[in-house]
Amino acid sequence: MKINILHAGYCTAPEHIAIQGGGWRSIHFPAMFALMRHPRFGAMLFDTGYSYRFFDETQKFPRRFYRWMTPVTLREEDLIVNQLLTFGLRPRDITHVFISHFHADHIASLPDLGWSRFVYMPHAFGHLRNLPPSEDMKHAFLRGLIPPDFDSRSQEVDMSKPVFLPDEYAPFKMGYDLLGDGSIIGVELPGHAHGQMGLFVRDENDRLFFFVADAAWLKRSIVENRPPHKVANLLFPDPEAYRSTLENLHTYYLTHPETYVVPSHCEETIRGLEAPLE
Ligand SMILES: [Zn+2]
Repeated sequence: MKINILHAGYCTAPEHIAIQGGGWRSIHFPAMFALMRHPRFGAMLFDTGYSYRFFDETQKFPRRFYRWMTPVTLREEDLIVNQLLTFGLRPRDITHVFISHFHADHIASLPDLGWSRFVYMPHAFGHLRNLPPSEDMKHAFLRGLIPPDFDSRSQEVDMSKPVFLPDEYAPFKMGYDLLGDGSIIGVELPGHAHGQMGLFVRDENDRLFFFVADAAWLKRSIVENRPPHKVANLLFPDPEAYRSTLENLHTYYLTHPETYVVPSHCEETIRGLEAPLE
């Protein structure tokens, strides 16, 4: 499988929100997505980053607050459809989108991907499905980003069929074989959002990637086992679970230095991987 780490737009926020002890200056948080080209299943994505729909959906109050909290920069060439073109791909070529969670910066291009199946953990969308619209903002959810035929194209992860992971994934013990061929393993990373899913994927050169979405905003959080500012707990449905997920990532990082651990919004990590790997 060929793997490309990319991003579609970025937002800015003060560093000290993302990590305790961080500076007051505003830093960039790229909205990462990954293109995975599988020999049998074709081209697939992990998340989608931003699209212009983010701006459409945050025109009006109270949703406009979302834009104010996380000011977004997005250029024409950042759009996922334009980036796919540079790989000779069209939206109809994307067979699957693996959705880490349903915050707008991860799903804003779902409406552009009219032919894909959507793979996600059932409880990631289950609690949003019946949410009154007045509570959308509390969950950073913009329902206008969900395509009308979303349900019929969804392929929810079957939580009743976990696979027990070998020691090389410790302390992560349980995962989900998302394509049935062992090439993409989904793991639960609870705390940041309901049903947040990370992915273990191995590329054709036997490099193992671990996409950890927003379980940490910066790689340094994982390296130093240092959580975000306490105010971020107000955004998390389960701050305690967030903390123990971060602890697990820290342990994993220390014991698996060869794995490329990729937090979705860590500029240093994303930029480092966007350049062609040796
Ligand atoms: Zn995010």
